[in-house]
Amino acid sequence: MSKIGQPHWLGTANQFRFNPLTGEKVQVSTERLLRTWGGEVSARSTKKNAEYLPDCPFCPGNIRESGEKAPTELSEYPYAFVNDSAALKPPAEGEAQASYRDDTGIYQAETAHGVCEVIIHHLRHDLTLATIEREHAVKVLKLWANRYKELGERPYINYVNIFENFLFGSSMRHPHNQLWASSLVSPIQEKILSNIAAYKEKTGKHLIQTIAEEELKQQERVVFENGDFVAVVPFWAVWPFEMIILPRKPKNSLLDLNESELLNFTDAYVLAIEKLNALFVGDCPYSSGLYQAPTNGGDYDGVMYLMFRPPVLHDIRTMKWMVGYELMSMSQRDLTPEVAAFFLRNPDGWG
Ligand SMILES: [Zn+2]
Repeated sequence: MSKIGQPHWLGTANQFRFNPLTGEKVQVSTERLLRTWGGEVSARSTKKNAEYLPDCPFCPGNIRESGEKAPTELSEYPYAFVNDSAALKPPAEGEAQASYRDDTGIYQAETAHGVCEVIIHHLRHDLTLATIEREHAVKVLKLWANRYKELGERPYINYVNIFENFLFGSSMRHPHNQLWASSLVSPIQEKILSNIAAYKEKTGKHLIQTIAEEELKQQERVVFENGDFVAVVPFWAVWPFEMIILPRKPKNSLLDLNESELLNFTDAYVLAIEKLNALFVGDCPYSSGLYQAPTNGGDYDGVMYLMFRPPVLHDIRTMKWMVGYELMSMSQRDLTPEVAAFFLRNPDGWG
């Protein structure tokens, strides 16, 4: 670390690191990495995944809960539909948003409106965004952009959350992701937007692009880069192999990307999955989320980036649990982000 002017103890001492995006802190406890793991290790599946499953509601020709039939032609994919068990629903005709605040100000609530969609990527059950043809993966991201635009234009939608849960918090393996468009800008995104705006006010610079530039200078946490994006294990990463993908130029949403930038973004998304799969020798579970500008008519500048959070500790059979101290006090990790980035770049040295 000394080569980049950062103190040597960042590599060895227990420490607290600061996240400039969320304003939160993470505890890095490097010595804990040496402890013996006696916890749960889930069994690893070695069976080959089927191309088609008769009981998967997303497989071609099968019928969903709503009674709709999944398309049978590849040209009809990707496609989006309203989630059959939507957590958010649009307001009824003429319904205004209601809010409640009691006299003490302690009890407050407002009605939640929105739309939850599922985006099915491909007709084959066994593929993933990393294994479908690249042109097809680009189509998936184009559909994300279109849904962001169309839903964001609705007056009751202020924020569009696009995320993917792969083998983690997802009941279906069939390649898909979710989109929750909400009347509320998420509390996490509120904090990030506020910190990005404060940084711009103070320095005149874009926080996300400054992080990208610094990481490229330091190189230590860079996992890979291409012409438009850089992927790093952030200095303040919470999950052991968390990665963020940062655009080199300020962007607010997928709608700001031209054709070649969208291709490079798709490449980066796929390469992040491939890096995880190479390190853990198999399909690594992950949750990914795209941070974009709210659609509430506000003024935003350079707020887009992507987050990957694989819930794994040492291998894909050992899950990272956020319990006890992490659940009640603050996030904590064992190996340093610099070591995690090294192994994502050099998977052969791991294990
Ligand atoms: Zn399926």
